Amino acid sequence: MNPVRVLHVSAEATPLIKTGGLADVAAALPGAQRTLGADARLLIPGFTAVIEALKARQLIEPEVIEVGPAFGAARVSILRARLPGSDLPLLVLDAPWYFSRPGNPYVDENGHAWPDSPLRFGLFSWIAAQIAGGQLIPQWQPDVLHCHDWHCALAPVYLARQPACQVRRVFTIHNLAYQGLFALDAAEELMLPNRFLTQEKLEFHGNLSFIKGGIVEADRVTTVSPTYAREILQPGFGEGLDGLLRSRGEVVSGILNGIDDQLWNPATDPELAANYDRTSIAQKQVNRTRLRRELDLNEPGNGLLVGIVSRLSEQKGLDKVLKAAPAMLEQGIQLIVLGSGDAWLERGFIELAGQYPKQVSVSLKFDESLAHRIFGAADAILVPSRYEPCGLTQLYGLRYGALPIVSPVGGLVDTVVDEQSDQVKPPANGFVIGRHETLEGAVLRCQRVFDDRTRWTQLMMNAMAQDNSWRAPAQQYLTLYVD
Ligand code: ADP
Repeated sequence: MNPVRVLHVSAEATPLIKTGGLADVAAALPGAQRTLGADARLLIPGFTAVIEALKARQLIEPEVIEVGPAFGAARVSILRARLPGSDLPLLVLDAPWYFSRPGNPYVDENGHAWPDSPLRFGLFSWIAAQIAGGQLIPQWQPDVLHCHDWHCALAPVYLARQPACQVRRVFTIHNLAYQGLFALDAAEELMLPNRFLTQEKLEFHGNLSFIKGGIVEADRVTTVSPTYAREILQPGFGEGLDGLLRSRGEVVSGILNGIDDQLWNPATDPELAANYDRTSIAQKQVNRTRLRRELDLNEPGNGLLVGIVSRLSEQKGLDKVLKAAPAMLEQGIQLIVLGSGDAWLERGFIELAGQYPKQVSVSLKFDESLAHRIFGAADAILVPSRYEPCGLTQLYGLRYGALPIVSPVGGLVDTVVDEQSDQVKPPANGFVIGRHETLEGAVLRCQRVFDDRTRWTQLMMNAMAQDNSWRAPAQQYLTLYVD
């Protein structure tokens, strides 16, 4: 039997371009499926950073697939390459008019959304559908088109216009709050006929909704944890789409994200001063000391070191950390924050660092290498999100023996088992903020357990033994493709 051919489509992929967890998933999931025998490939837009990184590593193949002019771009082509550090085949949508720009994939250098994003991601979706339909690369037509998030959510819509096409369409929601909403009059340039502009299809409160394309037209709609899959069917988490999702209930399911356990491995991580595994957790102390020195923090002996690696947005609940901080810090806890995002939160954390010098370190940037060092050094990782589709940082925390303290939502409750739980499989591995517990209450509870070295070591052992690799979820997706 021929291996199943899967075209993954994502606007981000680590290590080429990353603003959040989507990038990690898009890079690791297809690779894990290849290990299981699938012929998975990944289509990404040729943002400046992507093309430059691939060129610098000489990973672009000479053969170019010319598309010609499309969606207002004079020159559109597809490059073939490999994802750095892996054998994953990449298809890179090269359309300099739309993707060769400063800033990040979605906003310019001043944080303003690119005004032509409907066309940029319309083109991306259309190209994905053309490949899936067999028009662009006839010798490699996929069996499955697997689209991730709103940026490519029109691909199943474009493919629906080829009724004879048997390709299975799967749409994965990584965060329902990001929907790709634009003025309805973009529809004409996007070649979307009027029959698609109804409330049942792409119209959403007078706007054109990209994400509805994926939800309405895909054969299977997935999200990134079983709990989030249930939550989004309810008004509180449904972002206005819960009714539509309920109507598609039988095709909606949740598959928990995994992590790339090669890239995120404390035993081999080149970013760490000292590597360690379950048999050598004492080595973590070396990383702790080194990071405290690097970030100009006190050496307090045995105080709890809490790390946060996060986008600074309301979703992540970090305003609650600002409120709870004095109660935590007065107990001698140290806090390391790495993040960037909303200005009001950035200001709040800078003020906090000013009030607690040598006890709070705040780095307002995106720094992959520092993120690794924080997981390698921290005793605990704080993730107090208001909602969390899956969350990756608690998984990195588990892998690095930095016990997660998390709110009781989404993928956080699917992966973290509270210290007080008597659950056996998987056993307790962290702290879930109780429904009647405050954030500082949970952190101080964590501090008390931390003082009990035997119990703490057991929890670290449990955390580091948990298998959060892609092996099982990658297989679950392969099963879903034929289900
Ligand atoms: P989300 O996708 O909602 O931002 P996730 O927890 O799923 O949240 O994934 C976030 C990813 O981005 C993780 O890999 C995390 O380590 C990384 N990350 C977030 N902020 C930063 C930062 N400032 N520097 C480096 N990595 C970051």
